[in-house]
Amino acid sequence: MSTDPAASEPTIFQKILDGDVPADIVYEDEQCIAFHDVNPQAPTHILVIPRKPIPTVDDISPDDEALVGHLFRVASKVAEREGLDNGYRTVINCGDDGQQTVYHLHVHVLGGRSLQWPPG
Ligand code: IMP
Repeated sequence: MSTDPAASEPTIFQKILDGDVPADIVYEDEQCIAFHDVNPQAPTHILVIPRKPIPTVDDISPDDEALVGHLFRVASKVAEREGLDNGYRTVINCGDDGQQTVYHLHVHVLGGRSLQWPPG
């Protein structure tokens, strides 16, 4: 699952991290950045990504545990800043069946409306 055929190419998120592709960045620190999704699936749709290029959930190492926890703390901070006081959803897609399209770990933060469950 972690073997992305395009893994040797920089992902679009790596290009954003490198400043080669613009993004609407709402938060950044030494470990991660957060920016608006270009194709929002809810009124608020933000992606939180580590600076470290971890392709998928399956590639998270023991050394990354604090980093992954940090991503969720940032997701919560971003949600608060965006005014998602009535709740929101965090999503991490993994691999082809999970509909992952960008092989750089990212937490989706979705909110601003009542979300449906289960997802498709
Ligand atoms: P995934 O399907 O879970 O891998 O999510 C990838 C997300 O990245 C999708 O929601 C895309 O809309 C989003 N995306 C792709 N390219 C860009 C971009 O250049 N800027 C912001 N979001 C992007």
